Amino acid sequence: MAHAGGARHRRLNALGRGDITARASLTAVSPGPAPDAIALQRDAQQLADGVLFERALDVDTAGEVPERNLDLFRDAGLYGLWTPTEVGGCGFDELERLPILEALAGGCLTTAFVWAQHGGGSANAARMPAGSPLHERWAQALATGAQRSGVAFAHVLRPEPCLFAERSGGGWNLRGVAPFVTGWGHIDAVLVAAHEADRLVWMLIPATEAPTLTSRRLRLAAVDSSVTAELHFDGHVVGDDEVVEIIDYSDWLSFYRQGLRTNGALMLGVASRALKLFGPSPLDAELDAARSALYAAEVDEMPERRAQVGYVGIRATSALVSSVGGRAITLAHHAQRLAREALFLLVQGQTADIRAGHLRRLGATDPDG
Ligand SMILES: Cc1cc2nc3c(=O)[nH]c(=O)nc-3n(C[C@H](O)[C@H](O)[C@H](O)COP(=O)(O)OP(=O)(O)OC[C@H]3O[C@@H](n4cnc5c(N)ncnc54)[C@H](O)[C@@H]3O)c2cc1C
Repeated sequence: MAHAGGARHRRLNALGRGDITARASLTAVSPGPAPDAIALQRDAQQLADGVLFERALDVDTAGEVPERNLDLFRDAGLYGLWTPTEVGGCGFDELERLPILEALAGGCLTTAFVWAQHGGGSANAARMPAGSPLHERWAQALATGAQRSGVAFAHVLRPEPCLFAERSGGGWNLRGVAPFVTGWGHIDAVLVAAHEADRLVWMLIPATEAPTLTSRRLRLAAVDSSVTAELHFDGHVVGDDEVVEIIDYSDWLSFYRQGLRTNGALMLGVASRALKLFGPSPLDAELDAARSALYAAEVDEMPERRAQVGYVGIRATSALVSSVGGRAITLAHHAQRLAREALFLLVQGQTADIRAGHLRRLGATDPDG
């Protein structure tokens, strides 16, 4: 499969300053995906249907994602999905990335989830100035998939900070916990965010354990093989040359809200696979409508559109379980795997607004609330 190429700057650069989760304002004029994006989408779908789906049940119970799956992503050029062509990446924008994420999530969510964590680190390494230590150390290596990265930032959305950066000498001292870091042991770098008063310090550091950086693996009811760990920082020293950005929390939050669309692609992939296994049903049109609405959403509409995708995903996977019957619950059946994955996606990459949208749709709160 070809590595996507061709310098294209016709749409908004989705990887601009402060882009942590591939933020993009997608209200830009959209002429549709470029030919190289369409080609990679086709390759991704073939990979998903021909290889990943066949292996997904094994991966689900294996305890970790086999290297050969991650190597397939690298060989297909998929590690460059979030980076510009200048550093060896695809040069795609968010609308071009979404169908690729969806296709791969529908093949094997666990593998796709581990890979998708690469977005933040690779995009941020690429946007550092050429010649800077971070750019030289990571930009090309991450864009080509020669090395892999993960992220440790979702905790900054919590009401109570749990990871702190304190100024110390020529750098920063990290203390606290990053509660969820996926791909631990499979990644070379990790993009970490920590609170410093009302600012966030963003760092790209080696994903290497040390006396001051330890991990505790979490056992999970879904995507357990993603090797997701809780990281403990105990006075971990980070140099200024590993700092990507220091940004006001409120500024970051508004950037973050612009990037909420991306994680919806994972649920679209899981739901779409469930409906493919189920066969034609009215849920097909519901999923298509939810997808179109998510793609077209303005920033303020994103939480509701994400919640709708989640709601369809939960019903699609439950319908599959119900239609299969008892066999659906055996570990040899995709139905239980997809249903567990859909439950996981109800909490992964969420905000309080999206969760409120789920709860309302599930009938657990006042419909007008
Ligand atoms: C398997 C798995 C893997 C993950 N991998 C990663 C990863 O690699 N990197 C990463 O950065 N993140 C990762 N996450 C985190 C993920 O993206 C979500 O942020 C996370 O699942 C939300 O978790 P939470 O509900 O525990 O935390 P939060 O949503 O942060 O909430 C913690 C508590 O605070 C409450 N709360 C949250 N927001 C508010 C609010 N605004 N007002 C009032 N109360 C609030 C919640 O209800 C909850 O009780 C992962 C999560 C899972 C489950």
